[in-house]
Amino acid sequence: MKKWRVFSQRLVVAVIPILIVAAALTGCANREAEWDIQNPYAGVDWAKYQQHKANFHTHTTLSDGSGTPQEVIDRYHARGVTILALTDHDTMKTECTTWPWQAFDRDPEILGMVAIEGNEISRVHHIGSYFNDYGEADVDSEDAVLKEIGRRGGLAVLFHPGRYEKSVEWYVEMYRTYPHLIGFEIYNQGDRYPNDRKTWDSILADRGIERSVWGFSNDDMHNPRTHLGSNWNIMLLPELSAEWVRRGIEDGAFFFVYAPEGHKGAPLPVIKSITVDLQKGVIHIDATGYESIEWISQGIVVHRGDRVTLSELSTLGRYIRAEIRAADSGSIVGTQPFRIHPLAK
Ligand SMILES: [Zn+2]
Repeated sequence: MKKWRVFSQRLVVAVIPILIVAAALTGCANREAEWDIQNPYAGVDWAKYQQHKANFHTHTTLSDGSGTPQEVIDRYHARGVTILALTDHDTMKTECTTWPWQAFDRDPEILGMVAIEGNEISRVHHIGSYFNDYGEADVDSEDAVLKEIGRRGGLAVLFHPGRYEKSVEWYVEMYRTYPHLIGFEIYNQGDRYPNDRKTWDSILADRGIERSVWGFSNDDMHNPRTHLGSNWNIMLLPELSAEWVRRGIEDGAFFFVYAPEGHKGAPLPVIKSITVDLQKGVIHIDATGYESIEWISQGIVVHRGDRVTLSELSTLGRYIRAEIRAADSGSIVGTQPFRIHPLAK
């Protein structure tokens, strides 16, 4: 009996530490995420996906551009742009989209490009319309335009908002009402409307909106000699196809680029990967060829560096986004916003 008691005491002494360690391990494995971070790049396989240049706002002689569709396509192709939407105004010269490219003796497949059918619906706030053939819009409101783009199964982006006098509340209401309205043009033809990034930040910070709005940088090219080449977007794609381009701009799996020196200027910073740690609330950008990385929330720079720990920030709103800046060229590669929310423990 005495022997058994000693044995059982030893057993307890031996087992308790094991139980403690096991409990700790189990607790670790089941530990819940402390942050909800909506990462637009979550689906990107950084080892396999390719980075493609895209321009989503371009004019030709079929509206008020000075380059023919052939010339415009060829010039973008020569600069390594592989995704291009010709978005002539619906209010001039043509009542349809500048489409298909074969009508202008160009075959995107032979060129190694993806052509996106589109238009700039221009009777009210100019709106980029994609993946549909909406042409002549005989309308008197943005609601009518967006309803029609939705009815045709297309996607929409609000162009050069700085040209209009719309309030942040108006934009928020548009984004709340139309899920296929996915973007906001934050760089246009170089940087004609710098305040558009402030408006974008205000929309993202607004309590009335529960989703992200993607920022686009577009040439709004009218003259191939002067307007082509300081703005583009970098899409992350497993294959170069219209289906994946559509998915990428719906999910926000792209970067916006402002490059004052153009396609042939100093090399841009390259983002090699973005990783998000939900437990720790950390976002890390692995990039090369940059001078600084600025993190922006609520429209102000809240942190500098390749890694941000959300709990260490004194200012943090409903989103955070990063701008990766080159040393001398003034070039910027920007991420889309990560919507963030600390979870109750
Ligand atoms: Zn335009």
